[in-house]
Order: sequence, then structure tokens, then C-alpha cells
Amino acid sequence: MILADKIITGASELATPQGSTSCAGSDQKKLKVIKDAALAIREDKIVFVGTTEELHQQVQRTEDAIEIDAAGFTLLPGFVDAHTHTVFAGDRSHEFDMRLQGAKYADIAKAGGGILSTVKATREATEEELFQTGMRRLDSMMLHGTTTVEIKSGYGLELETELKQLRVAKLMGEQHPMTVSTTFLGAHEIPKEYRAMEGGEHKYARLVAEEMIPRVAEEELATACDVFTETGVFELESSRIVLDAAKKHGLEVRIHADELSPLGGAELAAEYGALSADHLEFISDAGIEAMAKAGVTAGLLPGTAFFLMLKEYPPARKIIDGGVPVMLATDFNPGSSHCESMPMTLTLACLNMKMSVAEAIVASTLNAAVSLKMGDRIGSLEVGKQADIIILDAPSHFHLVYHFGINQIIGVLKNGDIVVGEEVED
Ligand SMILES: [Zn+2]
Repeated sequence: MILADKIITGASELATPQGSTSCAGSDQKKLKVIKDAALAIREDKIVFVGTTEELHQQVQRTEDAIEIDAAGFTLLPGFVDAHTHTVFAGDRSHEFDMRLQGAKYADIAKAGGGILSTVKATREATEEELFQTGMRRLDSMMLHGTTTVEIKSGYGLELETELKQLRVAKLMGEQHPMTVSTTFLGAHEIPKEYRAMEGGEHKYARLVAEEMIPRVAEEELATACDVFTETGVFELESSRIVLDAAKKHGLEVRIHADELSPLGGAELAAEYGALSADHLEFISDAGIEAMAKAGVTAGLLPGTAFFLMLKEYPPARKIIDGGVPVMLATDFNPGSSHCESMPMTLTLACLNMKMSVAEAIVASTLNAAVSLKMGDRIGSLEVGKQADIIILDAPSHFHLVYHFGINQIIGVLKNGDIVVGEEVED
């Protein structure tokens, strides 16, 4: 008999990807669906997945076991949001309103808005302020089913603030039920003071490589390093300066690639064996081929195209058909995607990038987990994995995308603990 201290029974459906490696091509839509499903937990791990009938035959409860009646509900793995900029200060709602009235980026920058306004506010904020607002944002993510999140720095653009952002993100991970993975993004933008300088792009890239990355690595503040590879920001040569230093100091690589132009960020990600290349609105056919060959995950962020009212979404169908594993993330940030909700992200992905519901669920769970090197622990509901589970107030996984704009998540378990919703004890 399997011994369990928490059981969930009678679920209308349980839907999950399987395994610990990413799913690409036709495997991107491989979702195992069990009807009248049940799941059992011992401490923080899943010890049984099957039908309610099988659970009653195979699972024995500890004396104080908790039972959750999931009749009419659907069980899914907790979402893994592997691309966010959650630690920042300031408020850019006014700038949003200007955009709605037709203001262009230059007008907004002139009025003191844009990314540099977030940089200014984040430089001025105390660690305590960043921590308090950051924790509230994690609460909001968890209420919408996210159980693991990646958080990037990148609103300091100078050593002390970059370190401050990463320290805050790490502390959030220690104090919040959610798992936090941190990424250093000192090369997010070229700071104003360097833009004014001749050769400023390379000078700043060298500062990131020679002063920031060694400190980040030494203080173990991040597991990965990201760079905004784009025409007019960090082009291929200066991106390499950053990425070479990241590799030298043992950091994993992630890249903001081909968002505004087909510069070759995808190919660069393949060359460096990046965990992910994200955005990819303008990825080339050669970029898709290179990523497929190198096994780089494509991080697609449909919330950004939606929020910026762009016509072009990333070519998800081409990327999937090209054999590249796709993950979906919110890109939560104050300027181009002010949304913590993964269900909203999945709805946008399905409606605007023609992904199926199954593909979107695999993208936001297992594939995202693999892109954080956590595929062996999270991303699916299987025996031996961490009990990170969401309970959807709906009879099937289709409703997650089909019923949009409301929150259907009524329960979240993280490491086996109920962190959202109420238990029914018997
Ligand atoms: Zn981003």
C-alpha cells in the first residue's frame, strides 16, 4: 500500500504532461488526461496519480490525512512562469493612458516615461519597498495558479541596484511559498549616461561583463544571465561580451532575442547553448533550425504583443513545427506587459498564435520547468515530483482557455501545502 497524508479525489479531470524533458514538435500537445481522477501526496511529493477507484485500492491514509473533494473540478500542474521582471518600483499607468491616446515612444520618453523611469524609481527605492511590492505581486501570481517564477533584474543598470534587485528577489523566494529562480539582466538597456558616450554600447557591456557578472556570481545571486540582444541596444558583438563573461562565471544563459528585428538572437542563443531565447517575434528560419538543433527552448510572451497593440505575434506554429520546444510566460513588467496571470497568457497564446489548449498547458508547465532546469522536480503531475498542483473550478482543461478573463483557480498546493483555497477534512 502507498501511504499518503493528503488525498484529492473525484476530480472531473486531471491533465498533465509527462516526463522530465521538454516536449517539442508533435509532442508539444501530448497531455495525459484522466477522468474521475485522484492524486495522493506524502509530505511534499506526489505518491499516486490515477482514478479515484484505483486510489481507494492502492492508497492508505495516515491517521490525520487531509482529503480534498475535487468533484466537478480539474487538476493541473502549477504554472511555471519563466520570464518576468517582477521586482521594480514606480508607476507607469499614466504612460499607458498616453499610449492609448496615440503617444509614441519618443513622446513618452520626453514626458519622463519609458524603461528609464522604472530605472530611476528602482534606483531610488529601498530594499524593503521593493520586497513589499514584490511579495504582493507573487501573491497575485499564486492566486492565478503560478507556483514557480523566474525573476530578472535589469532596472538598475548599475552595480548596486542590480545587486539590490537580485537580493530582494532571492529573499522573496525564501519568504514566499512560491519557488523563485533569479536571472541577472544588467544588459537590459544601455543607461542614459552611456548612450551619450562614443562606443557606449561596448563600454557598458564591458562594465556588465567585468564588474557586475563577477559580483553576481560570487554572491550567488542568480543562476542565469540574460541580455537584450536587439538592433540599437546590445547587438551581436556586445551581447557576446556579456555572454562570454556569464559562461566564464558559471551562469546559465537566457536571451531576449529577435523581438523587434531579425538580428540573429536565436542563432546566438543556440551557439551559447542558452536555456531559452525569448520573444522571437522576428525569428528567421535559420534561427528556428539552430534552436531546434541545440535544444534551446523558445519563450513566447503573447501578453507583450497584446499590451503593446502589435499586429505581429511570435510565429508559434512555425516554431513548433520546426521542432523547437515552446514555453509561455507573462513577461510581467510595468511597461510592456502589466499582467501576472498565466491563464490570461494562455488564452492570448491560443487565440493569437493558434496554439491548442494542450500545447499551451505543456508550454506553461513542463517546458517552462525544463527551461529553468527544474524538469526533474516540477512541471507535471507524476509520482516522485513535487506536489505543485492547481485546482480549476471547471470540468475540463479546455475551460482554462475557453472561459477567459475570470479567475477559475480555486485551489493551489505548493510542495504539498494548501496555499490557496480551503481543505475539507474528514
Ligand atoms: Zn523580458
